[in-house]
Amino acid sequence: MTMSSSLFSPPALQAMRQFYNSGVTKDHAFRKQQLLTLKKIIIQYEQEIYKALYTDLKRSKEETYATENGLLLAEINTALKNLHKWMCPRRTATNLVNLPSSSVIHYEPLGVVFIIAPWNYPLQLLLVPLAGAIAAGNCAVLKPSELAPATAEIIDKIVTEAFAPEYVKVIQGEGAEVVPQMISSFRFDHIFYTGSIPVGRSIYQMAAQELVPVTLELGGKSPAIIEADADINTSARRIVLGKFVNAGQTCIAPDYVLVHQHVYEKFIAALKHTLRQFYGSDPRQSDDYGRIINERRFNTLVQYLEEGDIVTGGETDREELYIAPTVLTNIIPDAAIMQEEIFGPILPILPFSNAEEALAVINKNPDPLSLYVFTSDRSKEAFWIRNIRFGSGCINNAVWQFANHHIPFGGIGNSGKGAYHGKHSFLTFSHAKPVMKTPVWFDPSIKYPPFGRKMKWFKRLIR
Ligand code: NAD
Repeated sequence: MTMSSSLFSPPALQAMRQFYNSGVTKDHAFRKQQLLTLKKIIIQYEQEIYKALYTDLKRSKEETYATENGLLLAEINTALKNLHKWMCPRRTATNLVNLPSSSVIHYEPLGVVFIIAPWNYPLQLLLVPLAGAIAAGNCAVLKPSELAPATAEIIDKIVTEAFAPEYVKVIQGEGAEVVPQMISSFRFDHIFYTGSIPVGRSIYQMAAQELVPVTLELGGKSPAIIEADADINTSARRIVLGKFVNAGQTCIAPDYVLVHQHVYEKFIAALKHTLRQFYGSDPRQSDDYGRIINERRFNTLVQYLEEGDIVTGGETDREELYIAPTVLTNIIPDAAIMQEEIFGPILPILPFSNAEEALAVINKNPDPLSLYVFTSDRSKEAFWIRNIRFGSGCINNAVWQFANHHIPFGGIGNSGKGAYHGKHSFLTFSHAKPVMKTPVWFDPSIKYPPFGRKMKWFKRLIR
């Protein structure tokens, strides 16, 4: 770590609590100013951000803009545009038994929140939640992933320059060491965690000790389904982009593809054609194809290559942490690749002949983070949406739902808890505080004892 890194210290967190309690962060003008500051500094550091993402993941500028700083700027702009509207107390209806009261929902910040991010989209997975936390009027502690150190460093620099340390603070270090220390020595008002299921589970347990609410953005095996009536070439293009962006290290990437047997061969031919079109005959030379984050992940991924027949790809280079975009067929029964989240550039293709067969495969890994269905038949769309529990999804598309800030993004069950993006980030970092106001000029005796034979009236008023 360099000079700009911040280490964990309990008094620094107490200073944040005091700052929050001063009430400064609740004003509209303050929140707006902080969002503008964040926007300005992200633009100012654009080149350093590209450099950091290239160092950590060999990402191109275009890919970085589309998936990191561009996405973040869109979120900040949305928050800036809607902040006043989101913050306004919302009048809502009042039921019969409470009339003539009026009801209003106030949106209050949660307090000092803790945001923890993984390494795969290390900038936006930390700063998009931050934009929501700022919009909602919170103080925030940020924990970037130690596995993307160049990005962690630039985030630390940006945050230190943009914000007072008692308002937004970066804490660096080994997650397994520093995160439990922080949670056990300071009561956060919310923990927003993005990362793996096992660590998510442990954070949920730690948070439960002090009843700290959590948002968990986890992973899982997200299926893509190609029906016989799908547009095969378009499906192949969209799946290749969604799977191989960031060398497959995307939580919502199609993990594997179930293809109707009638179009199985055609789809595989289209995949091969598309891969060549996107990354050339040697993807290692492509500016648009990334690398694996570290050797540990590389080793896991290389083992998967032996669990089926390689249709295309399969080349690896340990020195460079390179694994070619790979398509696997004839997966061996009970293979690890069909039980673990792949999180790399290897795409298993499985044929199916009817929906029950495909459902049986999907249900072995329940609650996927995402589902992608490719079909031209509305009844098939409806079938898959109704019969699979998943976080978010697309029809005839993949991964782009993440970039639509008008819809919530999050998992369900095994893939997470809670959601964010756009207004949903604001809501996640706010407490919806309802207040009912009742005039004093009307106080019917029916609500007070002695109740006697009032049951008949209760039944009319309350139900
Ligand atoms: P990870 O769980 O190893 O690490 C995430 C964060 O937790 C890091 O900041 C790390 O420092 C910290 N951490 C690590 N071990 C810890 C411990 N024992 N206690 C407390 N904190 C700890 O996750 P990862 O490998 O960086 O990310 C990959 C996973 O994240 C995949 O499963 C992927 O699907 C998931 N993911 C989900 C989303 C989403 O939006 N749902 C987005 C990206 C990644």
